[in-house]
Amino acid sequence: MSDQGELDVELTFDRAGPIPFIEGHITAELQLKCQRCMQAMPHPVDIRFKLGLVLNDEHIEKLPDDFEPYMLEDDNNHLPDMLEDELLLALPLVAMHEFDCSDYLQQQDSDQQNEVEKVEEKENPFSVLKDLL
Ligand SMILES: [Zn+2]
Repeated sequence: MSDQGELDVELTFDRAGPIPFIEGHITAELQLKCQRCMQAMPHPVDIRFKLGLVLNDEHIEKLPDDFEPYMLEDDNNHLPDMLEDELLLALPLVAMHEFDCSDYLQQQDSDQQNEVEKVEEKENPFSVLKDLL
């Protein structure tokens, strides 16, 4: 994953009953590398999540269904890590263009050859007509 791209993060801290939670919205335009043709591949991300900050399993059970539990343990939890986790979850396991890009590279290789062919066509603009007549 490259570190190019814009990342927009909105976080709201709130409380659901006794449980504090973070409501987050991340939007980003990431630049991934397609694993098939190795070309850049823009990947828009739009994630919403609700993280219930919990201390133990009892808290997890009390969490509403649409909350993901986020266990606060020791002091080795950092918000950036948490956001990175959310972001990684939203990424495809293998980044790949949706269209068939498998001949991308071959096309580039044969560009020169195509140019030669085009020149030949220009030299014989009436060859198609000849065929018709
Ligand atoms: Zn590709």
